[in-house]
Amino acid sequence: MPFANAPIPTREEGLKRLEAFLPYAGAHYREHRNDVRHPTGLPTVSSLSPWLRHRLITEEEVIAAAIAHHGSNDAEKFIQEVFWRVYWKGYLEQRPTLWKEYRQTPPTQSDAPSGIECLDAWEAELKNTGYLHNHVRMWFASIWQFTLGRSWQSGADLFLRYLIDGDPASNTLSWRWVGGYHTNNKIYLASTRNIEKHTLGQHSPTGLARGVTPPPPAPVPARIPLPAPEAWEVTTRTGLLITEDDLCPESLFGQQPWAYTAGLCATEWRSALPVGEAPKQFAREAVADALRRNRPEANAPSAQFDANDAAFNRLAEKLSQAGVKRLLTAYVPCGPTADAVHALRLVLQAHGINVIAVPRAWDLRWWPLATHGFFRFWKGVDLTDL
Ligand SMILES: Cc1cc2nc3c(=O)[nH]c(=O)nc-3n(C[C@H](O)[C@H](O)[C@H](O)COP(=O)(O)OP(=O)(O)OC[C@H]3O[C@@H](n4cnc5c(N)ncnc54)[C@H](O)[C@@H]3O)c2cc1C
Repeated sequence: MPFANAPIPTREEGLKRLEAFLPYAGAHYREHRNDVRHPTGLPTVSSLSPWLRHRLITEEEVIAAAIAHHGSNDAEKFIQEVFWRVYWKGYLEQRPTLWKEYRQTPPTQSDAPSGIECLDAWEAELKNTGYLHNHVRMWFASIWQFTLGRSWQSGADLFLRYLIDGDPASNTLSWRWVGGYHTNNKIYLASTRNIEKHTLGQHSPTGLARGVTPPPPAPVPARIPLPAPEAWEVTTRTGLLITEDDLCPESLFGQQPWAYTAGLCATEWRSALPVGEAPKQFAREAVADALRRNRPEANAPSAQFDANDAAFNRLAEKLSQAGVKRLLTAYVPCGPTADAVHALRLVLQAHGINVIAVPRAWDLRWWPLATHGFFRFWKGVDLTDL
């Protein structure tokens, strides 16, 4: 059944929403971004994450639009938050072991009512809308871990299954950050006062954990090298692979006479447990939108498929029939989509078809700075040079 009240998963809609939020992205955002509700109902945050997560709109263009509207000083807080996303991506890309270890923990279905009124309300909101405000995500992850004593992995899995913006880097690493596994001797502890204040009294939970000792420092996995720039060219035998992790490939490759356009959805690969309808529906329709934008002609050969062995084999046959020898794709960062592309690559290789992943200059510029904590990363960002 289609997900009711679903956000529209097109690039056009993402750009429209960006435009509508821009007036609020300066001082208003700086003042109100922690508020879940605004006294007069104005937006406190952009809600752009589903479009950003799938790169229907890019971090680069959102930041450029905020600077054009407000200047980099007034828009600094908003820009900084977008860079949190960039930071987490770069951090996980250099330490993919953190994702692999998380995936090795079997997910537990611990999303039963907790008896804590606000947590149950937020869980229902997550499942009904596919979205939660950042402050709610922090309180949720904190109460989940410290008041209920549940594992960060089980909470991260719940979020990843239901958030439309569910992202392997931002989600996994934020859950670890709240739990005290990212920054030594620092946890995020939700308090009743803070929740009351920023929900305008909607929630006032009692019995929240206090005086929690941070976990002992966790070993930090060694960093691995980031992808190198990739040279590419388009010939009559080159196709385009579009994945749900980068749905604006035309801003990387331009419009090309692709011999074939293939669109891959790997939302089911987010978890071993069933993934919610909202993220699946958003990703499927968003991939279809990207396919429409990147086909050389309306009747040019193309296919959209969910990641599984049968679909990979069908695609290999179609590409072989079309004489395609090479698929270009925007580089897919660590996570479920990269896992699926890896499996697809092996099937295509057996048919003599190569997948070439091309990283974006934007990622290659910022990811190398994500070596330690966010604030060291942020020092390397020169706002006058954006
Ligand atoms: C436990 C936990 C889990 C999270 N899981 C995810 C996730 O799966 N996917 C995801 O995209 N974000 C995740 N976040 C980060 C953040 O909560 C969301 O990006 C943000 O709430 C999205 O709403 P918005 O677009 O209105 O944000 P805005 O406040 O309008 O910010 C604009 C953009 O900046 C980026 N951004 C803002 N805050 C953060 C942040 N703290 N970390 C990373 N990027 C940020 C997002 O791309 C966002 O769309 C998580 C945070 C926590 C604490």
